[in-house]
Formats: sequence, structure tokens, C-alpha cells
Amino acid sequence: MSALVLGHMNPDTDSIISAIAACELYKKRGFDVKACAQGDPTPESKFVLEKFGLTAPEVVKDVTGKEVFLVDYSDLAQAPAGLADATVKGIVDHHKLGDVTTSSPLECWIWPVGCTATVLTSMYEFYGVEIPRGLAGGMLCAILSDTVIFKSPTCTEADKKAVAKLAKIAGVNDVEALGIEMFKVKSAVDGTPMRDLVNRDYKDFNMNGNKVGIGQLEVVDLSILDKVKAGLQAEIEKVKAEGGRHSVFLLLTDIMKEGSEMLIASDDPSVVEKAFGAKPQGNSVWLNGVMSRKKQVVPNFEKAFK
Ligand code: MG
Ligand code: MG
Ligand code: MG
Repeated sequence: MSALVLGHMNPDTDSIISAIAACELYKKRGFDVKACAQGDPTPESKFVLEKFGLTAPEVVKDVTGKEVFLVDYSDLAQAPAGLADATVKGIVDHHKLGDVTTSSPLECWIWPVGCTATVLTSMYEFYGVEIPRGLAGGMLCAILSDTVIFKSPTCTEADKKAVAKLAKIAGVNDVEALGIEMFKVKSAVDGTPMRDLVNRDYKDFNMNGNKVGIGQLEVVDLSILDKVKAGLQAEIEKVKAEGGRHSVFLLLTDIMKEGSEMLIASDDPSVVEKAFGAKPQGNSVWLNGVMSRKKQVVPNFEKAFK
């Protein structure tokens, strides 16, 4: 039985591509593995897969009794069903260490960089394995996506170095142009159900005993979202009520203006002012310079919830 390589819930491009990239590397090293994902690719990921001739990983939602390699997370809240009854063989990630535990030693690569694909680029180097051309293109896009074309405060020199290396292998001359093309695809919201938009890049967190959901939509121009904003607000209210959550926040990030409007559904909206020092206008607040959920939003809320 093959071990499964899979990323987090509501898979983003990094989760999808890094599962494929890790799987290829593990195979070269002699492991019997299969790339999986906890859901279908988003329009952005589909664009990347098609552009570089890669196949979408098989969707798997229960890993009971399986051997698994995790990419792009180590939190139980983002894991598939049955992880407690699975054997975690390895983790490749770039987030804070989560609450996944193991009963035997595992191979763990967790680095404070902007993208899992950056860690994987170094792993290929470490094991002396060449990255195939199409895969390099995919990994390049994963890094551009996670670092918002180098603009996110999560971006490091290691990410830029990895991009330069991957661009050479993939034959991509204009990395920025590729990034903008990808974010334009990501920005399209027409005809997409509100719940899909909220879930597109959504994560639940446990903040001092409170269930808090934070989603993010990244667009090249915030005005694209004008006509769906009311619908999104209504939807996060629903998500909050359904899951017994304390709060659900949705970041509408303008990657050109480099800031986010945050929509708020909360039992106690004062946590927003506590976290960011900015007073919400009705159900939303503009957060200048805020682009990263991981680095600029989650830590602030964690403090505010203490
Ligand atoms: Mg991710
Ligand atoms: Mg990532
Ligand atoms: Mg992201």
C-alpha cells in the first residue's frame, strides 16, 4: 500500500504542487508513495497544473490506517479524518509547528521560509535529484503564490534564490509577469458560490479555547470584490454560526495596494481593535500593509484572545 503525500484542507497551490514535488522526490529515493490532496484544485492551482503539464493529485479525505507524509501543515485542525489512526512518516512545511504527534521517528523539514516548495527545492539539492522542468514551473508558481510575488513579509532570500533556480530549469524568463498572470486567474470571482470563495483559502484556529476561522482572498484590485462583499459578509456569518465559532474573519487582500480589508463576524468584535489597533467601520476594517495571515494576522489575534 502506497504511503500518501498530502497537504492541508482547502488546498492552495503550495499544498497541491508540494505534494507532487515531495512525492516525486520520495519516489526517487525508493519510497512507495502517491501524491494526494484534500480537495480539488482552485482555479489558480488548475491554471498552474495546466500551464506546466502536471496532473492534479487524487482527492483523499480519510487516512485511517495509512502511512502519510504531510506537506504545508502540521496542525490537526487542517488534517484529514483519521490522522490520529495513521502513521506520519514525514513533514515538509514552513508554518509554525502544529500539534501533530508521532509514535516513531519521522523525517521533518520545517523551515521559516515563504513556501513549502522552497524547502523542497533545497531537499532536491540535498539528495542530488534533478527537478523535472514542468515540476520546476509548478514549484516556482507555488512560491510566487505563497509570497504574493515576493511582496509578503513571509518572503525570504531563500525563496528568491529558489525562484531564480526554478525559473532557469522551467525556462521562465519573466517571473513577475507569470506571477501577475496567475493572480489574475486567482482574482476571478464571477459565478463562484459564496461558500467556495470563503473556503478558497480558509483555516480554523484554536485561540485560547475559541474556534476562530480566518479566510483570505487575494486579488489584483479590491474593486473586483465590490459586488460580492455583502454576500461574503452574509456567508461568513453563516460559517460562524454553523461551526459554533467565536469568530470568522475574511481578509480581502489587494496585492497591488499591499493591504487587506478584513470582513468581521464575531461574538466580540472588540478583539479586532485589540489585535490591530484599528477601529472597524461596521463589519469591516482596512489594514494597511497586512498581506500575510500567518505572519501578520494569526499572531495578533492569538495575543488578543489571551
Ligand atoms: Mg498553504
Ligand atoms: Mg505554503
Ligand atoms: Mg497563502
